[in-house]
Amino acid sequence: MNAGIYLHIPFCRSRCSYCDFATDVFKNEETVERYVSALVKEISESKIQNPKSKIDTIYFGGGTPSLLSPKQLEKILNAIHKTFSVLPEIELTMEMNPATVTLEILREYRNLGVNRASFGAQTFDDTELKRLGRRHTAQDVRETIGLLRESGFANVSFDLIAGLPRQTLADWETNLDEALKLKPEHLSLYLLEVHEGTPLAEQIRSKRQPMPDEDLAGEMYELIVEKTAEKGYAQYEISNFSLPEFESKHNSKYWRCEPVFAFGVSAHSFDGETRRANERDTNKYVSLVESGKSPVVEEIKLDNKQLSAEFAFLRLRLAEGLNLKEYERRFGENPASVMAEDLARLGDLGLIEYSENHLKLTRKGMVYSNEVFALFV
Ligand code: SF4
Repeated sequence: MNAGIYLHIPFCRSRCSYCDFATDVFKNEETVERYVSALVKEISESKIQNPKSKIDTIYFGGGTPSLLSPKQLEKILNAIHKTFSVLPEIELTMEMNPATVTLEILREYRNLGVNRASFGAQTFDDTELKRLGRRHTAQDVRETIGLLRESGFANVSFDLIAGLPRQTLADWETNLDEALKLKPEHLSLYLLEVHEGTPLAEQIRSKRQPMPDEDLAGEMYELIVEKTAEKGYAQYEISNFSLPEFESKHNSKYWRCEPVFAFGVSAHSFDGETRRANERDTNKYVSLVESGKSPVVEEIKLDNKQLSAEFAFLRLRLAEGLNLKEYERRFGENPASVMAEDLARLGDLGLIEYSENHLKLTRKGMVYSNEVFALFV
């Protein structure tokens, strides 16, 4: 089975109010350079490579990977090519932030093989962007798409967040219309999640921002599904929509439980059986790698029960759902018989559709997916 590679680039120009990713505020070039050297060392000394797996996707996530210079990107890619067997036709994605790239840099990224760009637009309302602590404006998003197209990117994705504080259904509809006007090949549309420890969580606790409204989020989700379908996008995962053949190959590996080797601070790997997590603090990560120690701080070999639970709830995220015969072949039992009562209850609630061979979430089930996933976990 082919595998993917994930590289985490933790630096951002500033920190957004809702973000709980492992990121550091960009301080200086020297810090980034030192981090890139550690990343290259970790890749080159990697012992998790599986000789049977060839690499068909590479994904630079963050943080803001587009803060890397083309030279730094080249160094990392060279280390990957020296260490792994990389197929000639791969999907190579780079996450970017609007207003962090120039035409010249994008052309250099393209020359190095980057063929997919994914960036966080989040909203087309400048007041909301400000509230979120984002540094870009709606106009920056439009200009970034223009630059991507001009430099030859034919596979562009961007993210929007629905259910932002004070956002109305009409505001969200305007956002969606603006996004669809730009004709990206792929859209990731998330409902806002409030993570403990973020400034947004604190603003909500101190009543400076209202609590997200679940019912309104449900209506926003309905609108997403309707509007994207009208424009020819297929919903292939709970939060992901694409034009035909533009599904994210890399992210699909996570939902299909396929191997992904991950490098960098806070990176999470999965080889089909074992999950590994790297150190979450950037300075500690760099020191560990520089001193020849492993940055892996957690390693869990999944038993059959854990593997089957992950397999089920990750597949259920996909619009195609869970093939119960395949599940039975791999794990020895069919949920349609062992969970018959629970499935009937979820069916009555309108959250799932199922038969003896197949189980999938309904549109309502996609909004309240955690209730269904809880059954498997
Ligand atoms: S740009 Fe993305 S990764 Fe960076 S702080 Fe904002 S949300 Fe987090």
